[in-house]
Amino acid sequence: MTAIVAIIGRPNVGKSTLFNRLVGKKLALVDDRPGVTRDRREGEASLGHLRFNVIDTAGLEEADKDSLLGRMRAQTETAIAQADVILFMIDARLGLTPMDQPFADLVRKSGKPVILLANKAEGKKGLDGIFESYALGLGDPVPFSAEHGEGTSDLLEALAPFV
Ligand code: GDP
Ligand code: MG
Repeated sequence: MTAIVAIIGRPNVGKSTLFNRLVGKKLALVDDRPGVTRDRREGEASLGHLRFNVIDTAGLEEADKDSLLGRMRAQTETAIAQADVILFMIDARLGLTPMDQPFADLVRKSGKPVILLANKAEGKKGLDGIFESYALGLGDPVPFSAEHGEGTSDLLEALAPFV
């Protein structure tokens, strides 16, 4: 069985950037039923020698805030339920924001293995945010940059036991 890795976090932390990096050209849209899985993307990922399926979550293309938040939550819960391991992403430059908490709560509640990725930390940026993120109680943060590909060997090492 191929392991499923879900990328979870509030909007704009860099989830899709990581997804694109992991999936490269092999991107496969799996389901376009409106209102159900519109923002959800799933693909075959490769990272070093590891191969796994990765799920990206929660786009922001819909205007209606209430239904948007509901959908983001539902989509996040579904992805967490399907995942063997979760990549929980924060923006290390901004540090923790109130919007990170509900996503972190869902992850914690699941009891599934989680790797905390402190993204946007290229070139030693975001050190304050990295320290703040210990407060989430999701383990030690992995400094990371989805855009610049920094921290990928640490991510590989963290993921290897689960995939
Ligand atoms: P998502 O909403 O969580 O899927 O976030 P996106 O992947 O769409 O990225 C949101 C914004 O953050 C975009 O402008 C990205 O270019 C930017 N971004 C993503 N990863 C990084 C990173 O590692 N470093 C920096 N500086 N910006 C990033
Ligand atoms: Mg996205």
